[in-house]
This record gives sequence, C-alpha cells and structure tokens, in this order.
Amino acid sequence: MRDELFAIVDVDSMYASVEQVFDPRIRGRPVCVLSNNDGCVVTMTAEAKALGVERGQPWFQLRNHPRRAEIVFLSSNYGLYGDMSARMLAILQSVTPRWEAYSIDEAFLRIPAEGATATAVRIRERIGGWLGLPVKVGVAPSKTLAKVAAKRAKQRTERVDNLAEVEPRRVQAILDEFPVADVWGIGPRLTARLAAHEVGSAGQLARLDPGWVRRNYTVVVERTVRELRGISCIPLECSPPPRRQMVHCRALGKPVTDEHEVVDTASTFAQRIAAKLRRHHRAAGLVQVWLSSGGSYYSGAPIDVHGSQALLEPTNAARPLALAAARLARRLYQPGYQYRRIGIILPDLVAEHQVTGMWTTAKNRTIDEALTAAIDSVTSRYGKAAIGLGRAGVRTRAEWEMKQQVRSPAYTTRWDELLVAHAR
Ligand SMILES: [Mg+2]
Repeated sequence: MRDELFAIVDVDSMYASVEQVFDPRIRGRPVCVLSNNDGCVVTMTAEAKALGVERGQPWFQLRNHPRRAEIVFLSSNYGLYGDMSARMLAILQSVTPRWEAYSIDEAFLRIPAEGATATAVRIRERIGGWLGLPVKVGVAPSKTLAKVAAKRAKQRTERVDNLAEVEPRRVQAILDEFPVADVWGIGPRLTARLAAHEVGSAGQLARLDPGWVRRNYTVVVERTVRELRGISCIPLECSPPPRRQMVHCRALGKPVTDEHEVVDTASTFAQRIAAKLRRHHRAAGLVQVWLSSGGSYYSGAPIDVHGSQALLEPTNAARPLALAAARLARRLYQPGYQYRRIGIILPDLVAEHQVTGMWTTAKNRTIDEALTAAIDSVTSRYGKAAIGLGRAGVRTRAEWEMKQQVRSPAYTTRWDELLVAHAR
C-alpha cells in the first residue's frame, strides 16, 4: 500500500491565462502571447488554436490571417508571469512544504494517497479562486505517470486525474493509447530510435525489459520504464538548499580605465549583491573583489587581480559591503589598464539570524539599519538603479531595451502600473 503520491499542477496556457486574469475583455477570446521582440507565438489559448494558430508561428504571417481582427496579440510580460508563478508556489506551500518548482507553470508535489483526488480538487479550486488561473492536476505513484495523468486531466471536465485510483489493467490500456513521444523525458530522437524497435506507445515502453533498455539505451530510459510501471525512481527535488556563496560578476559595457569608475563600479556591484543577500536572508563575512582587463588586443598585457577582506562580522547591509569592495578595488587598481570585467565574490555565507551584532557599534548598526530600510523601500518601488550609496543610484545604466509593442502592464510588480478599479 502506497501512502504517498506525486501530483503535478500545470497552468493551462500560462502566459495567455495570466493576461486574461487582468483583462476581462480578452477572456474566452483567441489570445496569442508573442516571444521576445514580438517574433513569434509562444503561447495561445484553445480559442486561438481552433483558428489554426500554431506555436512558433511568426507574428508577421498572422497579420494576414483571415480572422486577424478577432485574435488578441500580446507581447510577453515575463515579470508579470514570473510573479504569478511565485504566487502559485506560495499557495502550494500552504498545501504542503514538499513541492518542487518544475517550470514557470508546473510544480510537482508529494501528497498523501488517502484523499489524493480531493486534495487535487482543493488545489485547483484554491489556485483558481485566489489567482484566477486555470490549472489541471495529475496524480500518480510516479512523476512520469503524474505527467500522463495531467494530459488526461486536460480532457476531463473536473480537470483532475488520479491514476492511482484506476485499476491496473485499465492503466495498461491507457498507456497503450498514449504516444511514446508524449512521455515525459522521451524526446524526438529517442522516439525515432524506439520506433525502430517497434515501440510507439507508453504501454509498449513500459513492457520492455528494464535490463535490456539499460544496455541498449540509457539508465535514464530504464528509469522511465520503471516509472511507467508505477515504481517511483525520480524523487522530488525540493526547494534548493540555502546558498553557500554568491557572485556578482559582469562584463562592462565599455572598458574602464579611470580609477574612480573602477571603484564606483565595485561599490555598485557590492550594493546589488547586498540586496540579493537580504532577499535570501544570508550574510557575508568575507568580501572578494576581482578586476580583469581580459586579453584584449588593444589593452596590452592582460591583468587579472583579486583580493579579499574579512569583515568584523557577517553582514548584508549595503554600507559595510560597499565600503569593503571600494577599498579593495582601490588597492587592486593599477593605472594604464583597460578593465573589462569586475566581480564581487562572497565565498562564505551564513544565515542572517546567526549574526550576533556584537562587533558592530550601536551607532553603525543604527545607520546601517536605517540606510538598508530606505534603500530597500525605494528600490522595491522604483527599481534597483533608483537609489544607492556613492554613484550607485546616480548612474544611468545603458539597458538593452527589448522591442515590445503590445506588452500588458506589470500589474503585480510595479506601483505605477497597478490595475485601477473605477468607482462610479
Ligand atoms: Mg502549462
């Protein structure tokens, strides 16, 4: 008797569905979301599919579609999709701590076998009710079978399918109807090789001798065979362990020769990485700075130097980290070189709550807390280049701008693009 099962939660046409959450006018309509730079269709609703729109189709081709006027085309708004994805994971976290984010719109969960179908229905209702996103849920004894169940759930009105409730002979029949190309982990090349061995369905694959599969294919395919038989071989990869180190290293847009600019850049990078430390609730006790000119043809002999400085105690405040980075950069700087890369490395992180604060004076602690709070509140509203110590907040970064003609607002991540409800 199995006491736990795998569930996969999968949002229907994620990008298009998110757009429909925020714009009721496009609900029930054919919606297509375009790739970066509005190149081609990456996601579409069932209504768009019914009009013959295909995934990967270039946008310019669709401009001449006979029913062009009915179709809604939107630029991709990844910030919005990512935020909705994080919200979905937060909801799943409220169901069980044992989940794995598999892609932007899919997550695996471990749920008790008892009442699994009811749990799946509850998850679906909660995500639908709280986020407005339609999901399907597949439940089975293994991840590979859960993916099969999710495909089946798509066809069912309740949008939930639990293969553990289906009798074994019936599961066999379901797998015999299931194309091997649609099995999780079986790509086009494997599909072609399997076809040569007259394996065209998941059922046929499941009946192969695992030892023979290992010898003629790979251990990975052997694992798939066992998974299709209901034996779980691919465990849940829970949320990543806390970070042990952090690196912020960038190639500079143009080579830098000026000492002040090198020092400012190191300080700016240190402030960025400090913000990241705070987001992950980690603190650094050692700062390393790395300067490199690369081996450019024009810059002469390359220079590649690094140095490190221990702090009195671990911190994630902007000021001490920026000061240490600036001091190191000043020490490492040598005139006459064109610096092309600058990196900040924090090699040995500890949990934020482990910092005692006993080595920092009360005055410095007050300053750091106030500065950090101010920086975090301003940057969360106006973006990370809005404020900073030294020149970190002044510098206008040359940002590579994407061409996005028809992007929806960043409803959930920018104050100035919040949805406005009109009161009459
Ligand atoms: Mg999906």
